[in-house]
Amino acid sequence: MEFKDRVLKCIDCGAEFVFTAGEQVFFQDKQFKNDPKHCKQCKAKRARGSQRVRPETRTTCSECGAETTVPFKPTQGRPVLCRSCFQKKGNPAQTQQPASAQD
Ligand SMILES: [Zn+2]
Ligand SMILES: [Zn+2]
Repeated sequence: MEFKDRVLKCIDCGAEFVFTAGEQVFFQDKQFKNDPKHCKQCKAKRARGSQRVRPETRTTCSECGAETTVPFKPTQGRPVLCRSCFQKKGNPAQTQQPASAQD
């Protein structure tokens, strides 16, 4: 079966866009049953819109007591450090240099 570029209409903005032969091959390969419904711009917009926001939880630093936010849900009983205390203590995993970084 040969594929030819097809012109489709975006259901969001109504703009015409090309469903290229290459994309059709890809769709068939992935066994997608439906034609694409959005132009590239709208697809990009939707992708941006669905990007997950990092969950920030307000908590207090168990070291200095300062209010801080952490990008995870703190487990009860586990110490939570603010950024400066975290940096002061240092993270052994981060101080280790990857051997392949140079040359
Ligand atoms: Zn569109
Ligand atoms: Zn602190």
